Amino acid sequence: MDHVRSLLKTVFGFDAFRPGQEEIVSAIMAGEDVLAIMPTGGGKSLCYQLPAIARPGLTLVVSPLIALMRDQVEGLRAAGVEAGALTSANGPEENRRVLEAIDSGALKLLYLAPERLDSAGPMLRRAGVSLLAVDEAHCVSQWGHDFRPDYLRIGELRRALGDVQTAAFTATADAETRAEIAAKLFADPPRVFLRGFDRPNLFLAFQPKTSPRRQLLDFVRPRAGRSGIVYAGSRNKTEVLAKALNDAGVPALPYHAGLDPEARALHQDRFQREDGLVICATVAFGMGVDKPDIRFVVHADLPKSVEAYYQEIGRAGRDGAPAETLTLYGVEDIKLRRMQIEESQAPEARKRADHARLNALLALAEAPRCRRQTLLAYFGEERPEPCGACDLCRQPPELFDATEAAQMALSAIYRTGERFGAGHIAAVLRGEDDARARQLGHDQLKVFGMGRERSRAQWTSILRQLLALGLTRVDGATGGWALTEEARPVLRGERRLMLRKETAPRRGAGDARPA
Ligand code: ADP
Ligand code: ZN
Repeated sequence: MDHVRSLLKTVFGFDAFRPGQEEIVSAIMAGEDVLAIMPTGGGKSLCYQLPAIARPGLTLVVSPLIALMRDQVEGLRAAGVEAGALTSANGPEENRRVLEAIDSGALKLLYLAPERLDSAGPMLRRAGVSLLAVDEAHCVSQWGHDFRPDYLRIGELRRALGDVQTAAFTATADAETRAEIAAKLFADPPRVFLRGFDRPNLFLAFQPKTSPRRQLLDFVRPRAGRSGIVYAGSRNKTEVLAKALNDAGVPALPYHAGLDPEARALHQDRFQREDGLVICATVAFGMGVDKPDIRFVVHADLPKSVEAYYQEIGRAGRDGAPAETLTLYGVEDIKLRRMQIEESQAPEARKRADHARLNALLALAEAPRCRRQTLLAYFGEERPEPCGACDLCRQPPELFDATEAAQMALSAIYRTGERFGAGHIAAVLRGEDDARARQLGHDQLKVFGMGRERSRAQWTSILRQLLALGLTRVDGATGGWALTEEARPVLRGERRLMLRKETAPRRGAGDARPA
């Protein structure tokens, strides 16, 4: 799995798996038949793309949406992966390219529209398929909402390909559909992955950095005697923090990739065996750690992404007993991260995606309502009620009626064509004298300068909160902001919107520790 994890970074540019992905990927890598139920936007495609790239042979992907296939093939090709699609939308040139790649054995992923299943059978038998992936697998269900008769042929194809390993994906979770998918697509019952992403025993909290060292000590000291992890942004800092904790009477050890291997192994081993030790670590720590009774995880610096955050806090409370998490974030973290993204050698598209992912993390940090709802919404999972076990539920932040401001921001996004980043939208709202805005004609829009009375920081905060609430979404590939369905009632004045007054890190912020 280490190889697979490194492909996650090198091919897709992701720092961490999303909830559920790792288990599914490793089951597929182990040769199991899999039926995975994940919410829309949860990241299903990666679950078959990653094994397809990591393993020898060809993976066949059956998917009902031509536009989606095209996007995926383009994305994979841009990342250097041999992928192709056979659909009715192909020209002869493209068909030839794909068939040649199959013949030469170079192709890793072949997307196939369901109506092509029959005609492609003989060719596929020759090519040798090592994995059959079925996207939107509920289409096989005759009672479901989008039954595709061609999907019924997938079972035949699977048999024709010698009962090839099969992995099916859907967002539809009801038991009947699941049973039908299992019966129609698989020879034997597959391993089913169906799990909410919530970890209800974890308390979630974020604090802007005011005096970070004191904030860390204030959190850890009352918890001395319990096992915990403190994640820090640099090797040096793990050492500094471990010393500070020891000085404060909390036994702590540093851990990072720069320690010599013996010390590293020793520290990990002691943490694993002993009770009540705190490990101050870089993100290098955790992969091989299997300690069920970690009682807290602190991020002394902003994590890399929402995915990394979820994975790292997820190391606490594996035994199911209550555990606490605290994430500190400061303006310096954000600036540093922006700079690292800008200065990286990555292509522009990857940089935009990285900025967008950072924005999603900041939106979580500055969420106006229940943090757990916000976190789960990011992964596509809806949770109707506030959780009662996060800092925002315990101590709701001060809100203001932001209906008009939100309407302005949403219409600025809409009027500029739903493809610009937060910086440009804020500039338009503020009516900044900006060459780009003039060039695009955005200075002629009605919203131009409508939000002059608010600062850039205020607009940025409002935009992030709209993102946190799911009224906008950011394209993962381009970083462009667009509206969601949720934005409509606000734009039409049917829904009033309360947002957080203060979000930016500031001095003297209240203590948001759990009671
Ligand atoms: P689904 O098919 O489940 O609706 P997708 O496979 O289209 O979802 O993924 C949704 C989005 O999540 C895509 O933009 C994808 O790039 C992104 N994504 C998937 N896995 C990860 C990950 N591990 N880290 C960050 N982003 C991810
Ligand atoms: Zn909550």
